[in-house]
Amino acid sequence: MTAPPMENRLIDGRALAARMQGEVARRVAALKVRGVTPGLTVVLVGDDPASAVYVGAKERTGIELGMRGETIRLPASTRQSELVAIVDRLNADPTVHGILVQMPLPKGIDADAIVRRIRPDKDVDGFHPVNVGKLLIGERDGFAPCTPSGVLYMLQSYDVTTAGADCVIIGRSNIVGKPMAALMVQPGVDSTVTVCHSRTRHLAGHTRRADILIVAAGRAEMVTADMVKPGAVVIDVGMNRIPDASKKSGTRLVGDVAFESVREVASLITPVPGGVGKMTIAMLMSNTVKAAEQLGAGSAG
Ligand code: NAP
Repeated sequence: MTAPPMENRLIDGRALAARMQGEVARRVAALKVRGVTPGLTVVLVGDDPASAVYVGAKERTGIELGMRGETIRLPASTRQSELVAIVDRLNADPTVHGILVQMPLPKGIDADAIVRRIRPDKDVDGFHPVNVGKLLIGERDGFAPCTPSGVLYMLQSYDVTTAGADCVIIGRSNIVGKPMAALMVQPGVDSTVTVCHSRTRHLAGHTRRADILIVAAGRAEMVTADMVKPGAVVIDVGMNRIPDASKKSGTRLVGDVAFESVREVASLITPVPGGVGKMTIAMLMSNTVKAAEQLGAGSAG
């Protein structure tokens, strides 16, 4: 069989994110008819430049979709007790349906304690232990973390057969790898999941078995073509800046997958940029509108 044309083998994260955002905008409009404007408040502590870019994009996207978007910017010197007081105020505010405290937090702030302080039904990042538990047991009223949810949406949108597929995930973080595994193994998705990490022996032996390979290691271009089964679906979550003298900025963004060689082997692959990253914000918007739907008219704002 001849290979499909290359452009057909790329998963277009931009197009999928636009589609998801269109769905969210329709749900926002329906809520507004009921007198509820979904509200997302992002809290940014300190002046990490990458965080500032992410937060700006989240606020802008929310507003574009008709939500109430607000960012609370706090200095790096903010004390734990001050941040707790702000989270408590947002927890109690009926016009706020989604709360997101941007990570990483400055040293001296206990990030776990802050995550646990957010009301689980407003925790649109899906990091509160209650939501982690709901994801594991398959309760649908919780919130799954945005990046792995976005990956699953991509697979399903491209009609990738997940049932019975061998899915290998590289990475076991609480943000990506572990929740990704929880999503892929759920009844209805039905993959057989292997989670690899830095202590995994014979990594390539695992990856070469994968029908679906999801890479979230944070290691530039670590997955090479010889590690991929011909015809596999490859999802690259990684975002790494590497030096590139030909760029004005002196750097360029690459994934965890050696894209040019792996795309010759894979049946479907996500590019970086333009892949998973685009879906993450769209899923955050989806979680926020879900929070507003669930909190409902009682929180009209
Ligand atoms: P993380 O917390 O650093 O976790 C990385 C995981 O990869 C760890 O479990 C680590 O194993 C494993 N790992 C590292 N090197 C490995 C190797 N050589 N072989 C096998 N496993 C290895 O990172 P993260 O937050 O999950 O993020 C992963 C990547 O995704 C980063 O590039 C990040 O920028 C990107 N990301 C993208 C988005 C998006 O929206 N596109 C969102 C989140 C993250 P150990 O546990 O043993 O250390």
